[in-house]
Amino acid sequence: MTTPPSTTRARCSPTEPGAVQISVRTAADGSWQRMKSCGAPDCGWVFYDHSKPHHARWCSTAGCGNRMKTRAYRDRKG
Ligand SMILES: [Zn+2]
Repeated sequence: MTTPPSTTRARCSPTEPGAVQISVRTAADGSWQRMKSCGAPDCGWVFYDHSKPHHARWCSTAGCGNRMKTRAYRDRKG
């Protein structure tokens, strides 16, 4: 199995031919199972889950993950 490139995320847009190319390429080597859409509803990125347990929820833990955690914390506080 080949090592995926470090930049394996692409915006999920039907007008973006790159997204289709990624889908085709990852389907060929079976890694499509690790392609996920970001858990942030206002993000829309598709990312490759590099984590061992395959439980990554965000395209970026420091970006969307942090943002969503902050938002959840704020919502709890009211
Ligand atoms: Zn994201």
